[in-house]
Amino acid sequence: MARERLYLFDTTLRDGAQTNGVDFTLSDKLAIAGMLDELGVDYVEAGYPGANPIDTSFFVERRPMRARLTAFGMTRRPGRSASNDPGLVALLDAQADAICFVAKSWDYHVRIALETTEDENLASIRDSVRTAKAKGREVLLDCEHFFDGYKANSAYALACAKAAYDEGARWVVLCDTNGGALPHEVERIVGEVCKVIPGDRVGIHAHNDTEQAVANSFAAIRAGARQIQGTLNGLGERCGNANLVSIIPTLKLKPEYADRFEIGVNDDALGHLVGISHGLDELLNRAPDRHAPYVGESAFATKAGIHASAIVKEPRTYEHIAPERVGNKRKLLVSDQAGRSNVLAELERIGLPLNKDDPRVTRLLDEVKEREAIGYAYEAADASFELLARRMLGQVPHYFDVEKFDVNIEQRNNAKGQRVTVSQAVVKIKVGDEELISVAEGIGPVNALDLALRKDLGKYQSYITGLTLTDYRVRILNGGTQAVTRVLIESTDETGDHWRTVGVSANIIDASFAALMDSIVYKLMKSGAPA
Ligand SMILES: [Zn+2]
Repeated sequence: MARERLYLFDTTLRDGAQTNGVDFTLSDKLAIAGMLDELGVDYVEAGYPGANPIDTSFFVERRPMRARLTAFGMTRRPGRSASNDPGLVALLDAQADAICFVAKSWDYHVRIALETTEDENLASIRDSVRTAKAKGREVLLDCEHFFDGYKANSAYALACAKAAYDEGARWVVLCDTNGGALPHEVERIVGEVCKVIPGDRVGIHAHNDTEQAVANSFAAIRAGARQIQGTLNGLGERCGNANLVSIIPTLKLKPEYADRFEIGVNDDALGHLVGISHGLDELLNRAPDRHAPYVGESAFATKAGIHASAIVKEPRTYEHIAPERVGNKRKLLVSDQAGRSNVLAELERIGLPLNKDDPRVTRLLDEVKEREAIGYAYEAADASFELLARRMLGQVPHYFDVEKFDVNIEQRNNAKGQRVTVSQAVVKIKVGDEELISVAEGIGPVNALDLALRKDLGKYQSYITGLTLTDYRVRILNGGTQAVTRVLIESTDETGDHWRTVGVSANIIDASFAALMDSIVYKLMKSGAPA
């Protein structure tokens, strides 16, 4: 039997960005969009052009990807024409494949929040959908507060959805904006909507305020909806959005869904789910949830004891899926398989395909494990991983040595009698037979060290002039008895490439130094600097 296509719509970069404490930079957004595209979601909603400079600049140029890049915005304002609404005009100018409008579908909100009439709200939906379609965009309509609205006035909520559908919107998305709906309610209401609007034009957007956003999404699918909106790791304001990292493996691995539906995520991408989930956490500079379903470190961990030997003999007795399917691993067994396949996939990505039985893969894997045990994380440090791999293969030239460095912080009164803190770094470098000493002052010790390191690299200086650091993140890890510091640095250069490096030490300056060195060496290598 042919399986029905089910569509995944990711809004990590729009709704997920509403999370308290989350501030994506443009390069974060581009990195996450790339991860989502590799994962195989159908839509990447990247932001709200016009709402803030980062979202606006994301959509200034075409960002080529497999997924349909979607811009979010409001329907035209009441009392205005579509062409006379600057917000709508900005949205139509965005370089996106699709536009997702949000509109009120609860009569109470139309009157109180929008201060307009029910008819004018419907006209605004129709005009906005029509205008965006005329611009050649695929159109989606998020019906805000749909479930609360439906309970209060089902005819009006349905009229809003129907207005968008009749104008040719590809998707009408039913939103549980307050996140308070329960699965049996969602199943009933979506079922009623699907009698009026075909289910393959209906989507679900659930929030997690009763810890049931994932369950509500599946309830909607059971009732006929064919698009699920959600975010990576359930990121989102308050209690979050429906977690695609939990939804995807359920759709792929549970026969009830896997036999009926096909999604854009293939088995190979599914096998990298742990890496994607943890990669997002690294970018957010937060520790992955150990107990996250499917991808948490403890998701397949069983305390050694009575279950241990049974698991060794027959894992299926204690596991609901094979952890490798999502790139996770059983914690009880010392199984290299998951780690090995991640390493092999990474090697292929950087253009170093090795046979899986190659002893060098084992050596690299051991090295990665050893380093991870002391706090390194390579999911978000692509350049450091590549250096580690290429060093092992003898492909990284020895460019220069740092013979010593000295970082000095001084607090004193300046000439105006103000209290100031001054950081200064001195670096002694040996390039071939040439000894170079550089001194720099910076905003803080790491900045001073960075400036001094890059001030004079002798014959290599011309290769690093375009190198700039774009981000610097510190995390204190409590590994065992003593805290260690992990530093993640993001760099860019004149070609627009971005790369990330990592350093770990009990000392923040040492950790920063290691990450800075990796960044410089990576830049020299990628620029083809001679040994
Ligand atoms: Zn939402």
